[in-house]
Order: sequence, then C-alpha cells, then structure tokens
Amino acid sequence: MEIEADGIEVKVDKVKWTAETIFKRDGFKCVYCCFDGSTFEGWRFLVVDHINPHGGDDPSNLVTSCSYCNLLTGDNICREGLCETQVVVQKLLAAKRKYWEENIKPLVT
Ligand SMILES: [Zn+2]
Repeated sequence: MEIEADGIEVKVDKVKWTAETIFKRDGFKCVYCCFDGSTFEGWRFLVVDHINPHGGDDPSNLVTSCSYCNLLTGDNICREGLCETQVVVQKLLAAKRKYWEENIKPLVT
C-alpha cells in the first residue's frame, strides 16, 4: 500500500492476516483448550474465533480455536475479553469432562 502525503510517497507494509497467520501466531493451538492443530488431523479442526463477536476482524480480536471450543464460545457466554472467555470455556469443558467420565467412559472401556 502506498500513501502520498504532500508529495512524499510512503510505502506501508501491511501484513495480510489470514487464518494461517492467526494459527501461526498462536502456535497452531486452541487458545481455550490447547488442542494441538499442528498435524493434518488436528489442523482440520482449527478455526479462527472472534473474541468479541461484534469486535470486527482486527487481529487483536482473532484467536485460534478448535471447532469444539468455537461451538462452546457461541452466543451463550459473556465475552469481555480473551482471559474471561478462557475461564468460561475451561468451566464448560470441566463440566463436559465430568459428564464424559460418568456417562461415556464406562461405555468405551
Ligand atoms: Zn479448544
């Protein structure tokens, strides 16, 4: 991108933020549950999540999430910021794990 101001041409390098850029910044891990998306099997489940659904596409509002956490962070939880959202997701995951331990694990072992 080039900007011309008072006859002076200034080149501005604008980083193109893609899903891969966000994934790389976040180490190809879900910021909520640390799901590893660095393999093909894992990468298939990575998505870009908006911390604030109404906060736009600025990279500061975008994080790497797994599909499951992305569902958990839908419209049902308060999303003040990343840390608050991480705490809420951890509580939801703990409840889901408890359900799994009690109801599903006996079926698969
Ligand atoms: Zn996750």
